Amino acid sequence: MATIFTAWQGVSARIAKATARSQRELNCVSLLAVSKTFPASAIRELYSIGQRAFGENYVQELIEKHAALKDCNGLIWHFIGPLQSNKTRSVAELADWVHSIDRLKVAERLSAQRPEHLADLNVCIQVNVSGEASKSGVTPDECLVLATKICQLPRIQLRGLMCIPEATHDLTQLAQQFKLLRDLQNQLIAEGISLDTLSMGMSSDLEIAISEGSTLVRVGTALFGARTYL
Ligand SMILES: *Cc1c(COP(=O)(O)O)cnc(C)c1O
Repeated sequence: MATIFTAWQGVSARIAKATARSQRELNCVSLLAVSKTFPASAIRELYSIGQRAFGENYVQELIEKHAALKDCNGLIWHFIGPLQSNKTRSVAELADWVHSIDRLKVAERLSAQRPEHLADLNVCIQVNVSGEASKSGVTPDECLVLATKICQLPRIQLRGLMCIPEATHDLTQLAQQFKLLRDLQNQLIAEGISLDTLSMGMSSDLEIAISEGSTLVRVGTALFGARTYL
């Protein structure tokens, strides 16, 4: 059985290879280890080999693992799951990043609840790039207005855009959806909004995402194995 270390080496090699093949700068794509449903001990193992950024989808899991890993200096917590406005407080207090902003109300609450003694909370707007009704995220048309409003809020810093494309094996379609996010990012930058993060690519499609400009891939299964939900 592959250890978590060999899995991490494998994913790192995939990222490096895809980055080189896209003729992009070495180390311009960072790895977010998506640890949802896996125990704090699995995070500790990856931490011990140098991984620092971890992604969680559920507020309760973030709270528990944050407490269990208090001794791990320099851990960076990314909240990547759907966030209801009544659950923002813990995220504002514990996370370093939130990738799933799709309503002003959630951004406003995070801004108001971010403790003063902490650095600004980094946030990304989630965009529905596939147009599927079941998907979270703003439509591409709504993105500029939301981005402009978020930029006016204190204690949170808009860093970029995030997407989850359609669950398809059609590589052309995936590439189109990733490209849509990158084009949208460039439009916002042209409007004067400074953004440096494109959060796109997961275990099965990180190569395509990197070739379309991803700066951060969110990888769960390829690092930790298949998830089982209770
Ligand atoms: C679970 C999840 C991932 C990781 O997906 P894998 O296919 O396991 O790599 C990435 N992003 C989000 C938003 C997720 O919920």
